[in-house]
Amino acid sequence: MFENLQDKLDRAFKVLKGQGSITEINVAETMKEIRKALLDADVNYKTAKAFTDDVKEKALGQNVLTSVSPGQLLTKIMNDELAGLMGGEVVEVNLSVNPSIILIAGLNGAGKTTFSGKLANYLKTRKGKKPLLVAGDVYRPAAIDQLEVLAGQIGVSVYTNRASKDPVGIALEGIAEAKKNGQNVVIIDTAGRLAIDEEMMNEIAQVKTSTKPNEILFVVDAMTGQDAVNTAKAFNDRLDFTGVVLTKLDGDTRGGAALSIKSVVNKPIKFIGTGEKMEALDVFYPERMASRILG
Ligand code: GDP
Repeated sequence: MFENLQDKLDRAFKVLKGQGSITEINVAETMKEIRKALLDADVNYKTAKAFTDDVKEKALGQNVLTSVSPGQLLTKIMNDELAGLMGGEVVEVNLSVNPSIILIAGLNGAGKTTFSGKLANYLKTRKGKKPLLVAGDVYRPAAIDQLEVLAGQIGVSVYTNRASKDPVGIALEGIAEAKKNGQNVVIIDTAGRLAIDEEMMNEIAQVKTSTKPNEILFVVDAMTGQDAVNTAKAFNDRLDFTGVVLTKLDGDTRGGAALSIKSVVNKPIKFIGTGEKMEALDVFYPERMASRILG
């Protein structure tokens, strides 16, 4: 898909080469190509259309300096516009409360447990925090094992209660434990399902109501393309989450889901996952993602 997008953009920019200013005629064809390229990069149609309409308006009538080709000028306009659409600047995780309570939500396989570990590691090593991980997936004992292994790797405490099938109770016990031990961030990993279902949503909504988290991070696999947008919408409608984590960006996806999700739910993307290791976590930089989407 990478070459494909690049080829298309190259072809699109060829149309503009050697012309003095960007005019209605040459920009219309180019925007059509760019829209197609964005659709290929998993950006949804409405977002791609709004984006190209905007870029077209900004590009029209711009004089092209001799040192800058129309293609370069357009690339700059598009980069700025895309970065702006994705929030423009870095939005940090909210750690203003003590203890900060961070609820992790998402479908099975999205990368919740892995991200919970990565976030704990990030907060410990980069922010000097003392996090506690809470194993809230009561359906999959393997998920509890996985969190314990990750916690061991990064040297962070984990709260589990294998005898309990009550996610709200476990979350509250975890918070009490953190307060007792002076841990200032509680990261609650929750159960997911393979698809959105009412029971899962009810359960996580109850955990939200009881624990009053100051951050709810929705974790989604960037490789799932358009599905990522639908899932984000369903979770946001129910949970009103505070931020998005896009995982598996080390794969060959361009990350158009970042743009679509932001435009559909209007919540900041806070982190990206770039691998399975505990260090493979980055803060989300809109400009970098813009360059990646455009190729
Ligand atoms: P959960 O069911 O949402 O808790 O998902 P997991 O954390 O168990 O992750 C599912 C799989 O995706 C595991 O094999 C993880 O190692 C893998 N995974 C998670 N995040 C990333 C990432 O950013 N990149 C890659 N390549 N794999 C990831």
